[in-house]
Amino acid sequence: MSAIILNGKKLAEKIKNELAIKIKDLGIKPQLAVIRVGNDPASKTYIRAKATACAEVGIKLREEFLPESASFEELQQKVGGLNKNLEIDGIIIQLPLPQHVDTIKAVNLINSTKDADGLTAYNQGYLYMGYPKIIPATPLGAIKLLDEYKINLDGKQAVVIGRSNLVGRPLAALLEQRNSTVTVCHRHTINLKEITKQADIIASAAGKSNLITGDMIKPRAVVLDIGINHLDGKICGDADFETVKELAGAISPVPGGIGPLTVACLLENLLTCYQQRRLK
Ligand code: ADP
Repeated sequence: MSAIILNGKKLAEKIKNELAIKIKDLGIKPQLAVIRVGNDPASKTYIRAKATACAEVGIKLREEFLPESASFEELQQKVGGLNKNLEIDGIIIQLPLPQHVDTIKAVNLINSTKDADGLTAYNQGYLYMGYPKIIPATPLGAIKLLDEYKINLDGKQAVVIGRSNLVGRPLAALLEQRNSTVTVCHRHTINLKEITKQADIIASAAGKSNLITGDMIKPRAVVLDIGINHLDGKICGDADFETVKELAGAISPVPGGIGPLTVACLLENLLTCYQQRRLK
């Protein structure tokens, strides 16, 4: 029997429709600032997707650009100005940054009430303490997708592949807070297959095509494919979709799974920032 396809695109549309109504009721357009440093081609594509989604729900997007050679101090000045600007509700620094800029120091320049990506030490800290305020959009989207399909997490064995601050680490925390027993795997994990075979839930955010194959899956497991990779001119996830879907109980496809949900949840985070700051 073939797996249920977890339709992230459909849920993302539902989230955006609800957001559009809420934003219309506000009577003003909340504003998101995106800072791009340098010319990473994938960053341009992601920002374009964010711009389209912002327009759909009535959020104003302000794009800021710094050249590849920009110093930390220049970025500090840019973020500082946006922090002070009362019209700006959320700020994101599009990653990756050029190598000479320290990413952790850079994201922590953002005022925690405007931290739409949930990457500051303040928001990450509250998340790991089990008291989330702003949750990074990709793990938030992943949990919403599991909830939409009423997938029970209580007492389940969950395996998260990847330990980035933006995806793997916060997703592991959220699954643990939903009472799953979580194993986090990464580049140094030995014998990934032995671990994934035990899992009721597998969430892969490694960014490696064909990392997860059918022989690594326990029958009826739920697979969240969070990778975005390019293979033979096509976009694909971390899972070998054809072999995995034969064994899995459910799988999120790429494209059309977690990707659109990430964008929708970022917009939702912006509204949370707006509410935290302007309505308090
Ligand atoms: P993202 O922001 O999507 O999480 P990153 O590139 O920051 O992406 O992180 C990738 C993560 O995936 C890292 O934690 C890394 O250890 C993990 N990873 C990469 N390749 C493998 C692999 N072959 N097996 C297991 N984990 C991997």
